[in-house]
Amino acid sequence: MFEVSFIPAFKDNYIWLLTRGKRAVVVDPGDAAPVIARLEADGLTLEGILITHHHADHQGGIAELTARWQAEIYAPVVESITGCTRPLSGGELIEVLGETVAVLAVPGHTRGHLAYSVPGALFCGDTLFGAGCGRLFEGTPEQMSASLDQIAALPDDTLIYCAHEYTGMNLRFALAIEPDNAALQARVAKVAALRAAGRPSVPLTLAEEKATNPFLRCEVPAVVDAGLRHAAQTGEDPDLTVNRKKASIFKFIRSWRNTF
Ligand code: ZN
Ligand code: FE
Repeated sequence: MFEVSFIPAFKDNYIWLLTRGKRAVVVDPGDAAPVIARLEADGLTLEGILITHHHADHQGGIAELTARWQAEIYAPVVESITGCTRPLSGGELIEVLGETVAVLAVPGHTRGHLAYSVPGALFCGDTLFGAGCGRLFEGTPEQMSASLDQIAALPDDTLIYCAHEYTGMNLRFALAIEPDNAALQARVAKVAALRAAGRPSVPLTLAEEKATNPFLRCEVPAVVDAGLRHAAQTGEDPDLTVNRKKASIFKFIRSWRNTF
């Protein structure tokens, strides 16, 4: 298996660096400078770039990197990505540093958003965050809810490599939704200690997200109640039809988060 480490970028982005010996692949290089510095310091050769979605903080470094290294660029076919050589729509298996990687379509944050999955690890861009999820810029609540369901179906010990350090902020909101959730209270203390020590809160474990992330808990009574309270404030009717209730609660929790 390849090794995974991170390259910090901008204010709170993580660019994931996958290495096998001196071979390297990066996920979502929004900025080239810190990637070049790290690859050169470690004597690595870049052979691939995995892109989850088109936002500049995820693809802004591509041109500079490919000017220096010849790398395959894997990216969503329906989005505009600099120099894409391997257009993907989800459902494909690709080979990365000798490993088979499954490509998942996880629309919601953007319409072509992809996640890259190997046994035990998922690179999910701006779909799932620590105690939160990405904003719905292009997709519907139903799409994002289904994308999160897809992630939640992975094994509990899967490590989730998301693209931003948002966990602390998200936990404040999660606690407003579920003040009595003991796992959530414990996580707040744990993440505060990690961040105070200058350490990342990612990768996340899926088990901990399932226990504390309100966006993966839209069927838990306390989260349903919170969603219904927000729905009442907006004056919109929640759709409580059995098979639409979860996505409807998700929609109200997500829109509440936007104004929190
Ligand atoms: Zn984004
Ligand atoms: Fe982003």
